[in-house]
Amino acid sequence: MKTQNDSKKTEYRFSLKVKWALGTALGALLIFAGLTFVLFQTFTQDLLAQERQNVNQSLVAVDQRLNDRSTVLTKKQLDAAIQPDDLIHGADKTPSKIYNSSITKGLSASDMIVRVYDLDGKLLFSTGKQSINFTASTKKSVKLVKGGSHKILLGKMPIISTKTDSKIGYLQVENKLTKYYHSFNRLLLISGLVLILVVIASGMLGYILSYFLLRPIDDIHDTLTAISADPTDNRRVPKLHRHDELSDLGAMFNEMLDRTQRYIEQQSQFVEDVSHELRTPVAIIQGHMEMLNRWGKDDPKILSESLDASLKETKRMQDLVQEMLDLSRAEQVEINFRDEKTDVGKVVHQVFNNFQMIHPDFTFVLDDDLKETVIVPIYRDHFEQVLIILCDNAVKYSVKRKEIHLSLSRTLNQVEVGIQDFGEGISQVDMGKVFNRFYRVDKARSRKKGGNGLGLSIAKRLVEGYHGSITLESSVGYGSLFKITLPVVKEDIKSLAD
Ligand code: ADP
Repeated sequence: MKTQNDSKKTEYRFSLKVKWALGTALGALLIFAGLTFVLFQTFTQDLLAQERQNVNQSLVAVDQRLNDRSTVLTKKQLDAAIQPDDLIHGADKTPSKIYNSSITKGLSASDMIVRVYDLDGKLLFSTGKQSINFTASTKKSVKLVKGGSHKILLGKMPIISTKTDSKIGYLQVENKLTKYYHSFNRLLLISGLVLILVVIASGMLGYILSYFLLRPIDDIHDTLTAISADPTDNRRVPKLHRHDELSDLGAMFNEMLDRTQRYIEQQSQFVEDVSHELRTPVAIIQGHMEMLNRWGKDDPKILSESLDASLKETKRMQDLVQEMLDLSRAEQVEINFRDEKTDVGKVVHQVFNNFQMIHPDFTFVLDDDLKETVIVPIYRDHFEQVLIILCDNAVKYSVKRKEIHLSLSRTLNQVEVGIQDFGEGISQVDMGKVFNRFYRVDKARSRKKGGNGLGLSIAKRLVEGYHGSITLESSVGYGSLFKITLPVVKEDIKSLAD
């Protein structure tokens, strides 16, 4: 069995657990990737804005240093304006400290190259190796341009003399964005690693979680496989100590299995009982036929006796078949007779009158406590059938005292019908069994009286099918009391309350 289960399980291409794990990992990947992208964008944009500001500051600082001249810039002037001391120490030789520190910062930064050109585009001063060729500019601009392997920031502006208000040279600042790219790459690497970690962790977590959460499905699967291999197997889904949909499913599944197996057992028991019951009449008829066949054909006495006996048995079989049909129908009343209603008093009175008429040797007493019409949700013929079965039994099993009491009473939402006899009674042991199919206390005697042992089981099924109940109180030698309890139809309760 185990190997069969296992082989079935391995047939899945992707088990539910793997799907769950993949789903969780994919979800985590998408969420984290989206989040990282937004953070990444914000962070790098900020960094770039800062670098742009640095370039801008450098442009302004150097421009402030040079634009107080009235003539076109020359190399000599520049050497005087930007002293090496400035580059190294940031010496305070200019009016504003900010400019001084900015220019120092700008010029000394390794990834920032400051270049000054004269009006013809001739290079006058440079702090580093040139990577972008000079182009004349008409106004100040800072742009991202392609420079070698990656983009760089290029700030350009004309130097306009504050004295003559005319162009005296050009200024160009290149920012290689080394720090920016360094941070960018580091961030990319960290994000990538964290992303991989998150995906693996969430996938594993998803798998572990699904393993625990979906364990009942494995149990249900194993139980189902065992049951389909052997429908009588009493294996069940193990009890789950948790309260969720799957534990409910497990419990429901077990209940369904119990019910199905009960049906299967009942079914086979029924077939067994029926064949057992039919065996006797069939054997009797066969015996008589064989006897007739051998020597009875010419003996009118044997012929008549055998035919009588055979006819009696066929009648018994006919009754048996009818009763079995009734029994099987009684099991389906809930489906077929859902909205039937009956006036209890009317039917009880009718059965009471009929029995009085059929059995004049009996004294029938009816104690009717109902003061008004009481309606019960049961099909009229079925209610009558139940009463007839119980009254018939009362008559059948009364020996000396031929008296039968019927009673009718109600509570707010129930009505009770009692059928009491003072006959042979039923022992404590048999009381629990008389409602079973084909059960007879004294088989031979009951047979003689035409009983098949189906009457009480039909009555019980019918009453229970209409949500009522039958109870029995009995004492051997003193008689029996059967009580039918049925619910009262709701409108009837309402009208009573009014
Ligand atoms: P049957 O057709 O044999 O009467 P029932 O199902 O009606 O079958 O009854 C089952 C058995 O219960 C009977 O065989 C009988 O032994 C016992 N029984 C039923 N009703 C009574 C009763 N009122 N008094 C004594 N015994 C009873």
